[in-house]
Amino acid sequence: MSELRVRFAPSPTGYLHIGGARTALFNYLLAKKEQGTFVLRIEDTDLARSTEESVQAILDAMEWLGLRCDEGPYYQTERFGLYQQKVMQLLNEGKAYRCYCTPEELDAKRQLAMEQGRKPKYDGTCRKRIDHPDAPHVIRFKLPNPEGETVVADQIKGAVTFRHEELDDLIIQRSDGTPTYNFVVVVDDAEMGITLVIRGDDHLNNTPRQILLYQALGYQVPLFAHVPMILGSDKKRLSKRHGATSVMAYKELGYLPEALVNYLVRLGWSLGDEEIFSMTDLIEKFSLEGVGRSAGVFNPEKLLWLNSHYIKTGDPDRLADLLLPFLAAAEVSVDGGPELVEVVKSLQERSATLVEMAAGAAFYYRDEVLFDEAAQAKFITAEHQSMLMTVREVLAQQRDFDHDTIEKAFAKVMEITGLKFGKIGQPLRVVLTGGTASPGIYDILQIIGKERAVKRLERAIALINNC
Ligand code: GLU
Repeated sequence: MSELRVRFAPSPTGYLHIGGARTALFNYLLAKKEQGTFVLRIEDTDLARSTEESVQAILDAMEWLGLRCDEGPYYQTERFGLYQQKVMQLLNEGKAYRCYCTPEELDAKRQLAMEQGRKPKYDGTCRKRIDHPDAPHVIRFKLPNPEGETVVADQIKGAVTFRHEELDDLIIQRSDGTPTYNFVVVVDDAEMGITLVIRGDDHLNNTPRQILLYQALGYQVPLFAHVPMILGSDKKRLSKRHGATSVMAYKELGYLPEALVNYLVRLGWSLGDEEIFSMTDLIEKFSLEGVGRSAGVFNPEKLLWLNSHYIKTGDPDRLADLLLPFLAAAEVSVDGGPELVEVVKSLQERSATLVEMAAGAAFYYRDEVLFDEAAQAKFITAEHQSMLMTVREVLAQQRDFDHDTIEKAFAKVMEITGLKFGKIGQPLRVVLTGGTASPGIYDILQIIGKERAVKRLERAIALINNC
């Protein structure tokens, strides 16, 4: 085990967003690579917005992506005693103070500052107060060295300097007694021994305040790495307008976790021109040096392309298992039908998602093929009747029904009918599948077997007779 300790610290106020998933992934990869420790901490101090369902949704999404933590999950709501103690420490050392300014007073000050063209920040009225009336109050951290500056030596962005005049006396405990994010994040990261904080760069502005808190509490300051945001194609922050942003929505849309992992890591990290990375590759190759400084633009086509790659190259047995819920959703029952693994193999090349694969698999399992209207009108016609009858007859005569036998059977059909396969294939495809696009005819025949093939031919011939 190395000294590296990283953490993912989601707030359970909704599903796991793909931006959050990427942050989790970067932390996970680095921990695995360096044989460090990946800690999961649920930041649920915002009692009004945190829910059990969101906690579960985040845990489910992390599990689906394969991001197992080494420690945790810790819950901040179980650590209030510790935070209280640390607030007291700052109060006792004169580094924090009680502020009795009412929301109305603060509003008025803010208003005035804006009117006078000043930055609206707390003016420090209660800093010098020595009485402790029994009245509602917040606790503020006394900004040390108001004329000074704090430099965040960021592992991705480089050195970023913040002048303290931009900051004010931060509220560390609300009037209801609950501690605030910037305070608890520092206490937890320090107490949990986190050595490197990797998080979204929307937190970069919080970092100088947090560094000052580390120092005031006598903690060692960790390293920081702020990862650029993910943007939509219009270069605006990624949101639902750009498509699904929840990790689990991608599961439901038929994406494989390895495709999403590969996609997310590349969105912000690169290694030469390489595009395809398994989790094992990533654990070996990932490093913060490869993380770019500019925001990544979410590209759904590329994600789809990666997904089709992983479907094409995936293990058919695993894909068959993953496909079952999608078949159920499409109301396709596989009971008593062709071998699902064989069906999957026939569709891997032609399915970009499991949803597509389930749709493509449906014809194999239907008792009666559903004809596409135009395809039926064009191909289930008197013109093709005698050819279809020949196919039926020749196939019915076969004892074996493997690829070779089927190929030979068709040589015979071509000989009898004098037709090239080009003339036979398409009508037959419609007979067997209902449509004009499908896996290869020989593959389909082999998978559905002789009996079903003959039955489908007979039904088509009967349909033509009834026309
Ligand atoms: N809980 C914070 C969030 O979800 C993350 C805090 C952090 O990583 O420091 O945005």
